[in-house]
Amino acid sequence: MAEPSKIFLSPPHMSGEEQKYINEAFQTNWIAPLGPHVDAFEKELAEYAGVRDAVAVSSGTAAIHLGLRLLDVQQGDVVFCSSLTFVASANPVLYQGAEPVFIDSEPDSWNMSPAALEEAMIRAVNTNKLPKAAIIVNLYGQSAKMDELLAICNHYDVPVIEDAAESLGAEYQGQKSGTFGKFGVYSFNGNKIITTSGGGMLVSNDEEALQKARFLAAQARDSAAHYQHSQIGNNYRMSNILAGVGRAQLKVLDERVNTRQEIFLRYKEALGNIEGITFMPELRNAVHNRWLTTLTIDAEKLGVTPMDIINALADNSIEARPVWKPLHLQPLFKGAEYFSHTSTKSVSEELFNTGICLPSGSNLTEKQQERVIESVLGVCQRKLKFVSQKR
Ligand SMILES: *Cc1c(COP(=O)(O)O)cnc(C)c1O
Repeated sequence: MAEPSKIFLSPPHMSGEEQKYINEAFQTNWIAPLGPHVDAFEKELAEYAGVRDAVAVSSGTAAIHLGLRLLDVQQGDVVFCSSLTFVASANPVLYQGAEPVFIDSEPDSWNMSPAALEEAMIRAVNTNKLPKAAIIVNLYGQSAKMDELLAICNHYDVPVIEDAAESLGAEYQGQKSGTFGKFGVYSFNGNKIITTSGGGMLVSNDEEALQKARFLAAQARDSAAHYQHSQIGNNYRMSNILAGVGRAQLKVLDERVNTRQEIFLRYKEALGNIEGITFMPELRNAVHNRWLTTLTIDAEKLGVTPMDIINALADNSIEARPVWKPLHLQPLFKGAEYFSHTSTKSVSEELFNTGICLPSGSNLTEKQQERVIESVLGVCQRKLKFVSQKR
């Protein structure tokens, strides 16, 4: 029997229009970082998000790094960061020689806990180590509780960088995710809701700051005929070819959001009534883009562990993953300070121990999704049978 085709977690999904933009770049020989597609992509994305300006860069990680540089984060400074996230959220803190302090999640959104943040701020005031910036992540396509988090950050005068790499197209209280902080960051990596194969965007209403980002991202070249430089530059600008891909992808973004939401609903319908399976909750007055459908397993109730499910899916050529390993548990950040949601409850650790991400690409066919669902049901039933036989 032929091997069933592999089902990936979140593969690229081209619309077909991308080639037109790529050809245009070739025909005009704009094969360079910068160019008309870059300018247009920045403008179109800023319009979509409802912000004044956007800077296209080579990755989401680069955008976070530029955000930190614009906020003058330097060696020895402290930066607060969500703990439950991909390492790219905090790596740029290390690039600057600064010290990350990790903040736990809360259960309603899985994002930064206002209670833990407040606790960390109070401690920072007492030790005279207020952070230079806070990086708030919007995980798996859902905004954090931005109103509460911003109120705390504003109170302590700490500027916010919103890592919206996973939440492009999501909303919070009627406003696009990624536009709440001083700076917002999107990613167009191959696994994100839209992709340029690799790329990112830094957005803000501070046009002057973004002009400076353009300067820093292009080797910080002073205005002079010769090459003159007075500060450290980065080589972070986006290629004109890839910006063309991004323009075509942006046109179908809302469609992609709808499709991912439909995929989530089908999973929920098929698996949501099983005792021991709980889907990632959705905040009220917010739109979750459902970049990835994620759920938690109560191994005692279900009789199977998250790894049992992930391994069983892998046997069927289906890619599923645990939820992000919290950064405060990563060897890279050993010794970093961490503030949990309550003194007895670390939400990010619980989510890591119980959570899984299911294939959620917008090009996942209904038939493929059925295969995923059947596989999940299969491993649960096998275990149940095994348990009843043992009895
Ligand atoms: C993907 C991702 C990034 C990094 O984006 P790149 O474009 O891959 O550099 C940052 N933060 C989060 C939460 C992400 O998921």
